[in-house]
Amino acid sequence: MMDAIRARMRESAIADEAKVLNQLVDTAGLTLGEREAIADHAVRMIQAVRNGASHGMMEEFLGEYGLSSKEGVALMCLAEALLRVPDAETIDELIQDKIASHDWSTHLGSSDSSLVNASTWALMLTGRVIDEDDSSGIVGALRGVVRRLGEPVVRVAVLRAMREMGAQFVLGRTIDEAISNGADARDDGYTFFYERLGEAARTEDDAQRYHGAYSQAISAISLRATSDDTRENPGISVKLSALHPRYEYGQREDVVPVLAGRVLQLACAAKDGALGFNIDAEEQDRLDLSLDVIEAVLRDERLAGWDGFGVVVQAYGPRAPFVLDWLYALAEELDRKIMVRLVKGAYWDTEIKRAQVLGLDGFPVFTRKPNTDVSYIACARKLMQMTDRIYPQFATHNAHTAAAVLHLAGKRREGFEFQRLHGMGEALHDVVMAESGVRCRIYAPVGAHRDLLAYLVRRLLENGANSFFVHQIVDDDVPPETIARDPFLTIEDQGPAASPVIDRPSAIFDRRVNSKGWDITDPLTVAAIEAGRAPFAAPYQWGKEGLSLIHISEPTRQAEIS
Ligand code: FAD
Repeated sequence: MMDAIRARMRESAIADEAKVLNQLVDTAGLTLGEREAIADHAVRMIQAVRNGASHGMMEEFLGEYGLSSKEGVALMCLAEALLRVPDAETIDELIQDKIASHDWSTHLGSSDSSLVNASTWALMLTGRVIDEDDSSGIVGALRGVVRRLGEPVVRVAVLRAMREMGAQFVLGRTIDEAISNGADARDDGYTFFYERLGEAARTEDDAQRYHGAYSQAISAISLRATSDDTRENPGISVKLSALHPRYEYGQREDVVPVLAGRVLQLACAAKDGALGFNIDAEEQDRLDLSLDVIEAVLRDERLAGWDGFGVVVQAYGPRAPFVLDWLYALAEELDRKIMVRLVKGAYWDTEIKRAQVLGLDGFPVFTRKPNTDVSYIACARKLMQMTDRIYPQFATHNAHTAAAVLHLAGKRREGFEFQRLHGMGEALHDVVMAESGVRCRIYAPVGAHRDLLAYLVRRLLENGANSFFVHQIVDDDVPPETIARDPFLTIEDQGPAASPVIDRPSAIFDRRVNSKGWDITDPLTVAAIEAGRAPFAAPYQWGKEGLSLIHISEPTRQAEIS
């Protein structure tokens, strides 16, 4: 059963978007009347959010510096590149390139947030000081002097400003600090999931260090777990890429046992502390491998009777419904209960670019936003039918998506929860929690200042486009009805097919067809390559008697004769 589901999942890795969408619309199974009721509910929630307290810092920031403004893109490039620049001279040049050439003054005062306005002032002044355009005469000479003398100051100020922005989204530098900073939200009824900031392990030393840090975090959080029910207690999220430097399909025979061992150790500690323990979802080319690790961990008898093990499923991938079926079948076979966090997916840009660069046959993610929204609702429907084995966790900041989940839940208010990121979606989830009483958990990053920029860039990429909910909610010019538009209706209007504006991987060049690539992280592609290579496999092997002939296939024999 599980193998059959896995086979179908693999066949859907790069699927025909229109065909998959038609199936997902069926799975969602909503009538026009139900869809209208969901959209109306979402409109009311958006109005309540807009009428209520101020928006979170992230919403304000994205409203001002989203990916649709030149300045927003410049800021993101700066934050992203600053991470990799080793020397002061190059940092100065980078700041000059990204800050000086933009007109920050147009953003001045247009946000309600004093922090966003302060950032705008800092950026504008920095831009004026280092602008080289006016380099003639005495004013130019003076400016040159100020610029030279000021470079270290400007550099420190810009780095500081970027870190301040990142710090808005991090609950604390250490778990203890985060736990104490989260006290107010806990009083308001929220529970927490902590994520240690830090990117993928590049070396075995990194992996060991991250593993140690996760262990320490689990010990610290365990002290705060006061209930026997895992769902009442805080939890921790881990990234498999932080626990092995070669977390890739080509290394699977070595990686799966090592990673499973490391994850199991952490999961056992989380079980002992009655915590939730969650595996974050990463890039699509790691999905298959991650399921092998998850299965190896869950099969261990030491985890029997524990319902705190969690997995994340990304609705923007056409494999999502099959992953849910597979997880359910695994939980049934092992007689376990697990948690599943449903997200849309944070790596959309990377997935599109990777498929184009590799020259794949298509994309491993949907190419139109409403397609992902519909997929999320279809997956939510499936999850609501799996609650005997799965505790669904709906992570979204989108009012329409939250309204759809509440509709699918019917009168149920227990047995599932919402999740939001720290620093985002606060106003919406305050409204959802107040009106529905459904539990909400905050996913809270914890980490040192040096790790903030990478996190900030991820959040900007994931939410920055002006079609995204977080970006639209702060823009009063966009009517609630537009924000809460029924994605099924949009698909009916424009058709479910792939986006016409995103170049297919084969069509990224004007003058020629892109060369076809082979994705060696895809099990079916690897199997096809292996099958093609098999007849030419070396016919000799080392044995006790030395090198001996074991088999010569016909093509090999022909090759040897010629
Ligand atoms: P919306 O604005 O409704 O949706 C934005 C999302 O739509 C984008 O992030 C993208 O997924 C999708 N999208 C955008 N453009 C297109 C397009 N052209 N075609 C198709 N789809 C498109 N993400 C992970 O990958 N792994 C995790 O482990 C993870 N954990 C999370 C935990 C929590 C608590 C939360 C709140 C989010 C988490 N995310 C994770 C991020 C999540 O995947 C979303 O990126 C984010 O929540 C935005 O979705 P939304 O419903 O809030 O907003």
